[in-house]
Amino acid sequence: MRYSQLLIPTVKEVPAEAEIPSHQLMIRAGFIRKLASGTYTYLPLGWRCLLKIIQIVREEMNAAGAQEILMPILQPMELWQQTGRDVDYGQTMCRFQDRHGRENALAPTAEEVVTSLVAGEVSSYKQLPINLYQIHDKFRDEFRPRFGVLRSREFIMKDAYSFHADAASLEETYRRMYEAYCRIFTRAGLKYVTVEADSGPIGGSASHEFVVPCAAGEDVIVHTEDFSYAANIEKADVDPPAGTDTREQGTTGNAVLPMEEVHTPGVGSIEAVCAFLNAKPAEMIKTLIYWRPDLDIVAQLNEAKEKISQLEFQLKHEKFTLEGAIEDVERGYQTDVFAEAADVSTHERELEELKWEVGSLYRKITFVIAVTRGDHEVNIAKASRVAGGHIEMAFPDMIEWLTGAAVGFAGPVDASKRLLGKVIEGPRGMKVKFQEKGLVLIDPSVPTMPSGVTGANKTDYHVRNVVPGRDFPLAGDNVVVADIRNAVEGDTHQGRKLLFSRGIEVGHVFKLGTKYSEKLGATFLDEQGRRLPCIMGCYGIGINRILASAIEIGHDENGCILPAGIAPFEVEIVPLNCDKPAVMDEARRIYDELRAAGIDVLIDDRDARPGVKFKDADLLGIPLRVVVGEKSLKDGNVEIKRRTEPKPTLVSAASAVQKTQDILAQMRNELAPKQRC
Ligand code: ATP
Ligand code: MG
Repeated sequence: MRYSQLLIPTVKEVPAEAEIPSHQLMIRAGFIRKLASGTYTYLPLGWRCLLKIIQIVREEMNAAGAQEILMPILQPMELWQQTGRDVDYGQTMCRFQDRHGRENALAPTAEEVVTSLVAGEVSSYKQLPINLYQIHDKFRDEFRPRFGVLRSREFIMKDAYSFHADAASLEETYRRMYEAYCRIFTRAGLKYVTVEADSGPIGGSASHEFVVPCAAGEDVIVHTEDFSYAANIEKADVDPPAGTDTREQGTTGNAVLPMEEVHTPGVGSIEAVCAFLNAKPAEMIKTLIYWRPDLDIVAQLNEAKEKISQLEFQLKHEKFTLEGAIEDVERGYQTDVFAEAADVSTHERELEELKWEVGSLYRKITFVIAVTRGDHEVNIAKASRVAGGHIEMAFPDMIEWLTGAAVGFAGPVDASKRLLGKVIEGPRGMKVKFQEKGLVLIDPSVPTMPSGVTGANKTDYHVRNVVPGRDFPLAGDNVVVADIRNAVEGDTHQGRKLLFSRGIEVGHVFKLGTKYSEKLGATFLDEQGRRLPCIMGCYGIGINRILASAIEIGHDENGCILPAGIAPFEVEIVPLNCDKPAVMDEARRIYDELRAAGIDVLIDDRDARPGVKFKDADLLGIPLRVVVGEKSLKDGNVEIKRRTEPKPTLVSAASAVQKTQDILAQMRNELAPKQRC
């Protein structure tokens, strides 16, 4: 194609709004333009790159036995309600009401739609397995759209969903998808690693992420030096500490002395307590309160609390009126004090009952108390797995109710008793015991602490000389010691040191199990005539992220360095003096011959200075360049230069087409997937 005919608005200046190289370069090379936060237009060159990526993905998915379909972006909310994910996706889901008042979602993903499709079309084991995919727009109202198309609100995803009669069949497709992904990312020229990942809100039993290691990545991957073990920070398993922590104890504790309460007024956070007691975070025992989120309880609590505040307001007014009425009687006026007093006492009783109702609602909550060393962070994904379901940080009022103290003063002493034995007292002497059992999760690094400081479950107080095992149990009915924290520097996995790197997640494969098929009725009859839910897998790839991450790892100070498989063109021909017929004729000849050989070529036929053409060519990042200049042509030569090489090679004009083809063949070969990954 001819440069002069294309919209390639390159930009010299680094755009102020772009923080990372790929974002800056995609704008500077005229690949994208921003429309609004997290939404981008792809200009001709950017779109050519995406089309090439889509082509690779399509070829590999088809070769792996998947079938392409196209599902609507507009999805009825009822489908999401059936799986409960209308709640799980929260504000990330773009929602709107149509003119008939029906709730809809703009697809953040399509498990619900595809599962309901299969529920209607598949009924026998003979139709299984089936693997359906699409390449289509997705919408996610990301909390923080950033880094250009790396995290946008509208993006293109390849999403595939497989349905199986048994686990072995899922395993087979999962492996095929995994291998197809390896081939796709290799052909796209990405240096990637695969990491074990948490299944997140999609749920399921196993998952791997394909991650491109680079500084701009938002994912943290934890890995051994040779990457033979690599996991997302949410999943990385760490070895429990060996033996007792023998580090010197500061002012915080003494394993021989009994527990001692210390007054720590207004000092709640780990940092503040450490500063106050001159202790180190590693000497603290951190206690965080989580709960199994239950939207019904939240709604009922809010309603009861709203009523309480209305009633309190009303009571204040009534008490004021009653006082006035009493004064009036004292002054000798006729007033119905009894009626006023009756109102006050009725409403006081009502208030007491409402407060009791609030207490009994708290009683229904399943609390999970997580205990870690003060310098460690609780990992909600791990803790949720141990707790057997998704947990979230409890709200302050819940924490206050459970611990009996302000937030910041929770501690593990009596924690399990608190969960088991919490008694609430109601009006007229009624007492009710805690309904749900709840759990205390203790990270294995805690039992190795000789002693520590922790919250006293009493506002403004902490306790020191707290000895795990002596002062709070490490085993029991509702106590579990398990890995519930993020890996940190110094941790090991099966004895090998763990390192930390940042990376961009470009793809994700999940084994989903039957979560969706059960809820949406995707069942089949097996050979014995039994009706069973399909076992599912799902497999996503971010098309736009592939391009952005290729540039993130492939660029220099002059511009993009794109792999041949996804560059907008494979070869760029740069005639330096367009006004010289000999130069243009030779450039056109090479252009025509390369095109005839099926090569994707751009010719910079603009009447521009050589400096401008070179700068733009560097910016676009096309992997191979053929420069036709008057001077070298006089000697019968042209220059060929790989974008990655500092200097061009002089070749005879007559051999230029063959040479270009040879180098391209070599480049393609470098990107050819190996037999197995
Ligand atoms: P992330 O953790 O980065 O938010 P995710 O795990 O929610 O991504 P998946 O649901 O696994 O994403 O989606 C499949 C693929 O879609 C991801 O691997 C990623 O490549 C891509 N993707 C997800 N969110 C975005 C986004 N906001 N912008 C661009 N690509 C995205
Ligand atoms: Mg993911």
